[in-house]
Amino acid sequence: MDYEGMIIRPPSEANSILLQITLGCSHNKCTFCGTFRQKRFNIKPDDLIFKDIEYARTHFTRQRRLFLCDGDALVIPQKRLVKILKQIRERLPWVERVGLYANTKSIGLKTDEQLLELRDLGVKIAYMGLESGDDTVLKAIRKGADSQKMITMGQRVRAAGIKLSITVLLGLGGKTRSREHALETGRVLSAIDPEYVGALSLMLVPGSELYDAHEKGEFEVISAEEMLEELGVMISATRLTNGLFHANHASNYLPIRAKMPEDKEKTLELISQALKGNIALKPEHMRAL
Ligand code: SF4
Repeated sequence: MDYEGMIIRPPSEANSILLQITLGCSHNKCTFCGTFRQKRFNIKPDDLIFKDIEYARTHFTRQRRLFLCDGDALVIPQKRLVKILKQIRERLPWVERVGLYANTKSIGLKTDEQLLELRDLGVKIAYMGLESGDDTVLKAIRKGADSQKMITMGQRVRAAGIKLSITVLLGLGGKTRSREHALETGRVLSAIDPEYVGALSLMLVPGSELYDAHEKGEFEVISAEEMLEELGVMISATRLTNGLFHANHASNYLPIRAKMPEDKEKTLELISQALKGNIALKPEHMRAL
C-alpha cells in the first residue's frame, strides 16, 4: 500500500484495511494537535488510490472493514468520493463497512442527499472530534466550530443513518474551565446522542501550540484525579439513549467502558471509588497517545 507519513486511525479500526486517500487534515489548526503539522493537505491521485484498492483485493480478503485515511476524507468533493467508494464496492465486495474522519466543515460541505448517497455506498461510520462542548474552550483551541454547529452537523450525520463516534478530550479546559468543559460537553453529547463516545485524556504534544502555551505558563494541565473528576461530571451530564461511552484509550488513567444509559450509575460509582483511592489509576509513564 502507498502510505505517506504517519497513518492515524481510530482504535476501533485496528483490523481494518487502511486506505489512504488524503494527506493530512484540511483544518490543521487545533492548538492541541500535532498529528498532521508536517503534512500539507492534499487529495491523493486516483491512480494511486485505485492501485491500493487492487493491492487490497489480493492481500486483504478477510477484512470486512475499511478505513479511509488521513484526517479528513469526507472533505473530498462528492463526485470523486463516490467514484472511490464505487471502486471499493466493485473490487472489494466483501467490505461491509467503510469508516472515515469527519469534521463540521466537511459535513457542512455535503447536502443531506449526499450524506445518504455515501451511506448507501458503504460509509457506515464517521468519527468526529468534538473535543469540548464548551464554546470558550472550542474557541481557544481553534476547533473551527461552536457547540451549535457541532450539534447540527452531528445530528445530520445520524439522520443520514451513518453511525457517529465522537471523541472528547478530558483536561482541555485546563484548571480554569474544567467544570464548564465537562458540563457543556455532556450537553452537546446529549443533543447529538451518538452511538459511541470516546473520552481521551489530554497529553501535551511537543510542537503543538498548547504545549508552548503550557511551557509559557499560560495553560495549566489538570491532575489525574481532576481529570477523573471531570469525567464523572461529564458522564453525569450526558444522556445517551443507546450509546457506548468509552474512556479506555491508552491516554486514560482509569479504563471505562459503559453502555448508556444502563451502566451510568455503576460507572459513576467506579469513578467515585477511584477518587477515594480504592482503585489504582494508571501510572503516568504507562499513558500513551
Ligand atoms: S484535531 Fe483533527 S481537525 Fe484538528 S487539526 Fe488535528 S486532525 Fe485536524
